[in-house]
Amino acid sequence: MTVKPYIAIDGPAGAGKSTVARMLAKRLGYIYIDTGAMYRAVTLMALREGVDLKSEDSLNQLAQAVSIELFPDYNGGPKVYLNGDDVSDDIRSPQVSQNVSQVATVPGVRKHLVRLQRAMASRGGVVMEGRDIGTVVLPQAPIKIFLTASNKERARRRRGELAAKGNIITQEQMEKEIMARDLIDSTRKVDPLTRAADAVLIDSTTYTIDEVVGMIVSCIKKREGQS
Ligand code: C5P
Repeated sequence: MTVKPYIAIDGPAGAGKSTVARMLAKRLGYIYIDTGAMYRAVTLMALREGVDLKSEDSLNQLAQAVSIELFPDYNGGPKVYLNGDDVSDDIRSPQVSQNVSQVATVPGVRKHLVRLQRAMASRGGVVMEGRDIGTVVLPQAPIKIFLTASNKERARRRRGELAAKGNIITQEQMEKEIMARDLIDSTRKVDPLTRAADAVLIDSTTYTIDEVVGMIVSCIKKREGQS
């Protein structure tokens, strides 16, 4: 049996990774996996259980004990179930967003989630997005994209997503939040956010989602022509 390829999309918060990954997966008939949703689910559980977010041991134990299931929804974010409950909206709350990067620094939490992510991707035909997909989770992926955009534009997009759900936040606050998250994500000791040496850099600041998806499809075709 031939394994269909993997596509790894990494980049900072608000660069458009989720929407691009979802649309690309739909176009290619692949499965789409939002790994950030898994870190968010662990964070939500920790907040609900009142776990000390500075205690690595407690977070490790919690991550091992929870059941996280992801079901792709090609019309919106994935459906996320935590211990059987639908938490798809709750994991996007401001409280989770403000704490998730802290939880994602814990090596044991990462190790556990990376193992789950590799198992989910094992059959190939996957578009997986996150921060360490091309560098750590699927370093063998033949197509790697590092998607970014200006801070202003990333904050504008995230604000729009939140406003659609009734969460109003100022542009300044939003920029502060995503920059704080980027700083923790790119400076943590284990698996920091970084561009893989063989990843194609796409700055989406002035492009539409459709245009970015088109650029990635061109990368795939070019790559297919080479192999
Ligand atoms: O993609 P999203 O913004 O939902 O990710 C939430 C957080 O999860 C990121 O800011 C990062 O701290 C963490 N994350 C990670 N590694 C991944 C995906 C997400 O550390 N592969």
